[in-house]
Amino acid sequence: MTKKIAVLPGDGIGPEVTAEAGKVLECLRREFGLDVETEQAPVGGTAYDAHRHPLPDVTLKLAREADAVLLGAVGGPRWDALPMAVRPEKGLLGLRAGLGLFANLRPAILYPQLASASSLRPEVVAGLDILIVRELTGDIYFGEPRGTRTLEKGERQAYNTMVYSEHEIARVARVAFDAARRRGRKVCSVDKANVLEATVLWREVVTHVAREYPDVELSHMYVDNAAMQLVRAPKQFDVIVTGNMFGDILSDEASMLTGSIGMLPSASLDARNKGMYEPIHGSAPDIAGKGVANPLATILSAAMMLRYTLGAAPLADRVERAVSTVLDQGLRTADIHTEGTKRVGTREMGDAVVAAL
Ligand code: ATP
Ligand code: MG
Repeated sequence: MTKKIAVLPGDGIGPEVTAEAGKVLECLRREFGLDVETEQAPVGGTAYDAHRHPLPDVTLKLAREADAVLLGAVGGPRWDALPMAVRPEKGLLGLRAGLGLFANLRPAILYPQLASASSLRPEVVAGLDILIVRELTGDIYFGEPRGTRTLEKGERQAYNTMVYSEHEIARVARVAFDAARRRGRKVCSVDKANVLEATVLWREVVTHVAREYPDVELSHMYVDNAAMQLVRAPKQFDVIVTGNMFGDILSDEASMLTGSIGMLPSASLDARNKGMYEPIHGSAPDIAGKGVANPLATILSAAMMLRYTLGAAPLADRVERAVSTVLDQGLRTADIHTEGTKRVGTREMGDAVVAAL
């Protein structure tokens, strides 16, 4: 059956980079029999301008009906003064909640051709290939009670609550173990079980789920140690699974191990592996409209879509190999450009990936 992809270009460089990923999908359809159709809808600031809402009903409906969503990026200084409820970022949060996307997958892969972009010593990061699975809809970001109260002497106090229930932990743990089966068969669960009750339960439930995966090795690490190990010896990890807040911090840390923000894709999945796919970078207003943005993070996000939602892992491998090929050819957008390589724009890079395919 034809699978439907909702393409939400969004703001800033979003439309430029999703157009290149669209070319790649079109090539797969034409040359390799990928059975998909795409439809576009607005999200973020552009959607606010047209519909007075960052996530118009038509867009949420399209995203819900689609098998997968490919998102560019949202936000930009033009919309910074808007009230919180209609800020572009609300469009993103509305999609996550509206689609029930509870697992965020962020690979951090170091392409050998870009080794010099990492801030770490080459021997520490050479061959790095880790996957961080972050829980996305629970934890201290959503837990109740939350708020600010005034104490007796007029002093204010503010609080948030870390909350996790068993089913929330179990389902994201399964995503991590399933992913590990397709990779290095190791899962490291990150918590703070020496201090926080919510993460004592986290450790208990992850350990329980691990019994369903006797072929995957499970270890546990406290988050402070994990933050240190990620920069000390990141290659010890295969899959890291952790809660919303720790995952937020550790995934940004991990992205820096590889150098360029323009190279890193992400996936957010629901219970049936339906998902939203987007580059980890933002709308980059400073370079929007200049045709210089790196489209590879979005093209690699489309590859994740092929692997996790469209059941087309061989095509995902093909796209990833094509990206490696264009790097081998020495093609670089400005963000990853170094001496001795050829500087290209957004479109040239997308065309080169299609040619390599
Ligand atoms: P957000 O809040 O949406 O995450 P941000 O302000 O944190 O956005 P980005 O929009 O990701 O950050 O931009 C950070 C820097 O990285 C900017 O200088 C931007 O130009 C650069 N950048 C981001 N994405 C790309 C890309 N695809 N290609 C080249 N440079 C990029
Ligand atoms: Mg950011």
